Amino acid sequence: MSERILVVEDEESYVEALQLGLAREGFDVIVARDGLEAVELFERETPDLVLLDVMLPRLSGIDVCRQIRQHSSVPIIMVTAKSSEIDTVVGLEVGADDYVAKPYRLRELIARIRVALRRGVEVTGPNASGDDVLIVGDIELNESRHSVSVRGIEVALPLKEYDVLRLLMINVGKVLTREILIDRVWGADYVGDTKTLDVHIKRLRAKVEPDPTNPQQITTVRGVGYRLNPPQRS
Ligand code: CA
Repeated sequence: MSERILVVEDEESYVEALQLGLAREGFDVIVARDGLEAVELFERETPDLVLLDVMLPRLSGIDVCRQIRQHSSVPIIMVTAKSSEIDTVVGLEVGADDYVAKPYRLRELIARIRVALRRGVEVTGPNASGDDVLIVGDIELNESRHSVSVRGIEVALPLKEYDVLRLLMINVGKVLTREILIDRVWGADYVGDTKTLDVHIKRLRAKVEPDPTNPQQITTVRGVGYRLNPPQRS
């Protein structure tokens, strides 16, 4: 089955070049020409990757990215008009996987698309019982039942541990800063001990890691935050 790419672009010359170039590589291409259409098409067509221009009519690419990230970990590549804009966009931490600046070479873009597609390793969607599940490696999180199992065995997780794990799973392979984790799980007005996050991570590791003293799944990125690693493929 060919992988579906949602191209969000308002410059017609780019749209035409991408439609041709990506189709030639075997991708199924759908096009949105403004931000609102992008959100609509994303919901309806469930693409495997989004190529997202930053400057768009009606809703900016940054807002589109944020909206998609509220409920999806689909790979997103952001496209900026100038390379000098990339730093600004990256600094906003909207949750994109990669960035390219116009003008770009189609061959380079396609290489980046292939890398980003390989990174999306989790399975999400209804299971046999119709429940929404997230799966990363041997961790399975059932959003409908609010339950988690590790290597086939159900583990009891208090609410905040569940929330931290879910956020890490949605962002598998990406570093989440301490600020983002605390903000999303405890709320922006959280004023408690910043060690709380580390305590929760420690408890999570005890439940998901085969050897919690040598964590391989939830790793610490020193001075930044934490990352859930994608499963190693053999
Ligand atoms: Ca544009």
